[in-house]
Amino acid sequence: MNKPVLTIVVPCYNEEEVLPETMKQLLHLLEQLIAEKLISRQSKLLFVDDGSKDQTWQLIYKASLQHETVKGVKLSSNVGHQNALLAGLFAAKSVSDCIVSIDADLQDDISIIREFVQKFHEGYEIVYGVRKKRNTDTFFKRYTAQGFYKLMKAMGVNVVYNHADYRLMSRRAVEELERFEEVNLFLRGIVPLLGFRSTVVYYDRKERLAGETKYPLKKMIAFALDGITSFSITPIRFISIIGFISFFVSLIFGMYFIFLKFTGHTQTGWTSLIMSIWLLGGLQLIAFGLIGEYIGKIYKETKRRPRYIVDIDLLNLPLRANHSSPMTEENMYVDVKRLFESN
Ligand code: UDP
Ligand code: MG
Repeated sequence: MNKPVLTIVVPCYNEEEVLPETMKQLLHLLEQLIAEKLISRQSKLLFVDDGSKDQTWQLIYKASLQHETVKGVKLSSNVGHQNALLAGLFAAKSVSDCIVSIDADLQDDISIIREFVQKFHEGYEIVYGVRKKRNTDTFFKRYTAQGFYKLMKAMGVNVVYNHADYRLMSRRAVEELERFEEVNLFLRGIVPLLGFRSTVVYYDRKERLAGETKYPLKKMIAFALDGITSFSITPIRFISIIGFISFFVSLIFGMYFIFLKFTGHTQTGWTSLIMSIWLLGGLQLIAFGLIGEYIGKIYKETKRRPRYIVDIDLLNLPLRANHSSPMTEENMYVDVKRLFESN
């Protein structure tokens, strides 16, 4: 079997403090993986400079002159972690069989990239790195981050728990990802949507090697809001539901208010006043919800997401008759991957 070309994509924003060490460690790992014959010699490190204001790009550029395996992409301005990551994935995809994305601060254990690649060899197309525990994060970071996953779940966004953007994707998966043309691309929600054969590898999260987090609370909240609003119309549903509830409550109260009026327990004018407040309030909320539903539809249409993604298509990928190995499900996936690669 051909050894796959691996590209490790690293988005970097003002990471001059940590970058030299990151490069050293990743280069070392890449050499090991090549020596172990797990990946091809063509494998690369791709650093994406997300409009840094420090020496980040200079470091990347110099390293690329020294090492053939180091490449860089410089974005013209700061577009945020998610977009920088996408830029890296799409730049890498044409020259790679699989792509690993990892943060520049090496908080994520790089040694499990070996397991990522092994899983890829077994025919998995997406491998998620999932943190076991967060005892190295600050108390605050840990709780805000956990709240983030819970909120996403409650809002109906399917994300992998405790998985940030540390993952391996096959070239095919990245190509499908490219078909999601929405501008507000929330990767952690989209990648599970891709489907494909995927699995999880666990690791311990470490502390940042150097420098400070580029994700302060403000950015985290913006990120969560972005995730929710680009994936779910649950908030709109809430409005409709509240509208319906208050409308029905108003009907019940209405009868009670009329009862009060005829038993003479009210001031003149109070019944009509209170009833119009309740009824109109409920009706208005329903109307908002209804309009919201249509806006939700428009919003889904404008995304132009692919309606389906083909996993295996035997029409265009006929399996060879002379299998060397028995036809099990495991082998089928490895086989399909091999055929896809040779195409
Ligand atoms: N990053 C980026 N652009 C930004 C902010 C961050 O490319 O606008 C990169 C950053 O260099 C790092 C990764 O995204 O490689 C994750 O950032 P950080 O480690 O600060 O986030 P945290 O781990 O604290 O959530
Ligand atoms: Mg970090």
